[in-house]
Amino acid sequence: MGEIKPTAAPFLGQLKSDSVADHIGATPLVRLNRVPESLGIKAQIYAKLEYFNAGGSVKDRIAKRMVEKAEQDGLIKPGDTLIEASSRNTGIAIALMAAIKGYICIITLSEKMSLEKEQILQALGAKAVRTPAEVPIESPDSIISVARRLQKEIPNSWILDQYNNPENSAAHEFGTAEELWHQTEGKLDVVISGAGTGGTVTGISRGLKKHDPGLLVVGVDPVGSVLAQPDTLNQIKSEYKVEGIGYDFVPAVLDQSAPDMWIKTTDKDSFQFARRLARDEGLLCGGSAGAMIAALVQFVDQHPEYNEQDKVVVVILPDGLRNYLTKFASDDWMEQNGYQVDVGSEERKG
Ligand code: PMP
Repeated sequence: MGEIKPTAAPFLGQLKSDSVADHIGATPLVRLNRVPESLGIKAQIYAKLEYFNAGGSVKDRIAKRMVEKAEQDGLIKPGDTLIEASSRNTGIAIALMAAIKGYICIITLSEKMSLEKEQILQALGAKAVRTPAEVPIESPDSIISVARRLQKEIPNSWILDQYNNPENSAAHEFGTAEELWHQTEGKLDVVISGAGTGGTVTGISRGLKKHDPGLLVVGVDPVGSVLAQPDTLNQIKSEYKVEGIGYDFVPAVLDQSAPDMWIKTTDKDSFQFARRLARDEGLLCGGSAGAMIAALVQFVDQHPEYNEQDKVVVVILPDGLRNYLTKFASDDWMEQNGYQVDVGSEERKG
């Protein structure tokens, strides 16, 4: 047996920092082994682990950049109130930045979102304002309308607005994309990324194509959402359970032509692959991460020329499994929804 490697001491100096905001970005890029092998994938697959960000998701990057830009522009200062409509990770990310910098933070989120999310917001000192589930975005009771109303009522308050703020995609164009280019030393053929607001896929595409216009970017959109192009991909109108990707409107931040192609994914494949990423790779990632593997499988099927040993494919894994303990991370939930927990996994030996 070879030498057991101790902690990576040479890097520890870089891990001493002034605040936890310095631990947003510079996330690990980790090779996938057992999952691609079991799927007959010959290309080298690497995962960008966004749950390593301080607040646990890819959205920490945009919260940090949107706050810093608004401060630079003189729009906000510590002590002011940050309001955001977010049922997902952006709320947690903005609450984290507010905690670090001393802002008051109010997040509007829909009733149907899990109690865990509200508890994280409370732990970060933010206030969660619940709005009724299933109301259209233009209704006065929607998370966006309630956030706007609160902003009018509260002095010195500001909405960063991840759907329309150009700093959302810029965080990825100048951050995530540059990191990927450096981490792969420019040896990168395909990037697969989901789209919610579209900031990640738009920014990554813009950033990486500056380095290599021939690089392929694949956008991932759940069946039932309307973000994919061409529109004929979006004909099935259905509910989907995967969180963080997909919308029923196209956010201004998303450039639908930024990815070279789009792939649609199902809840079943997304959750089953997310469970496999934990079980067979040790990656504690969320459901939208599973959608990236579901898309990878379809991609190599459609483009066998990329399924060669010298090709490098990166999948972006946006958040962690701990956001979903009462959902797909639970065996009971998987069974109740008709999904298998251990599908496709090799027998463990010994
Ligand atoms: N997955 C998860 C779990 C998310 O929270 C988000 C953010 N909505 C995404 C994927 C997609 O990111 P983006 O908004 O940059 O498209």
